[in-house]
Amino acid sequence: MRIDILTLFPEMFSSLEQAILGKAKAKGLVDIYLHNFQEMSDNKQKHADDYPYGGESAGMLLLPQPIFDTIDKIQKETPDLKKRVILLDPTAQVFNQQKAEEFVKEEQLIFICGRYEGVDERVRFLVSDEVSIGDYVLTGGELAAMVIIDAVMRLFPGVLGNERSVKCDSYSSGLLEEPQYTRPKEFRGLKVPEVLLSGDHEKIRKWRLKESLRKTCQRRPKMLEKLALTAEMKKMLAEIFHTKRI
Ligand code: SAM
Repeated sequence: MRIDILTLFPEMFSSLEQAILGKAKAKGLVDIYLHNFQEMSDNKQKHADDYPYGGESAGMLLLPQPIFDTIDKIQKETPDLKKRVILLDPTAQVFNQQKAEEFVKEEQLIFICGRYEGVDERVRFLVSDEVSIGDYVLTGGELAAMVIIDAVMRLFPGVLGNERSVKCDSYSSGLLEEPQYTRPKEFRGLKVPEVLLSGDHEKIRKWRLKESLRKTCQRRPKMLEKLALTAEMKKMLAEIFHTKRI
């Protein structure tokens, strides 16, 4: 996959290299191209922003020209790649696991990171997707782009080194992941559930499924509405409701 990032602050992305992206790059799964679109500005002062029309606004807006020209340049370099052009925007639909699973299938992802009051409205003509990472406002789109890139990169086979973890992750399986424990068996009086130490694989499978259902009921009950419940799951849910230990 090729990832292009349009930003006024390319240096912010160096931290990604330390994390999962570094692994994906080392395995030759991804190439990253950072574009400081300010350099594409056609005005003498290399301004990338200006005052919004209408007056009395809180701040500056990113100009359309440097962004359009950078996208044109990328398009000329990569005409054949199946791509998505993603605008980071706090007013857009919130990013989720399903979107990450869609994005990982693409050959190229292009992120446009807004700054100040955002981008000139006409930039939306360039984009295939507008994505928010949550209902709050960040200073710029860079952190949002990093969040999305991390979520997408870990879905590449071989990046995590443990394929089971992706399939069992919360949201991928349609349920939240069950509670997990590591050594020691007892810590400050808090014990690991006996069943996990029993070595009985079937009992452990059942415990995990039930706890996963319980957690989903507690934290994301709407997820259960979308899940095709098996007879086993229905029975477990009935038990969970009956004992009221949700
Ligand atoms: N004036 C805009 C508004 O009220 O909707 C907010 C602009 S914000 C300060 C600047 C840029 O940060 C946005 O253009 C966007 O690229 C990015 N940004 C801020 N919050 C975000 C979020 N929750 N998700 C994705 N991008 C975000």
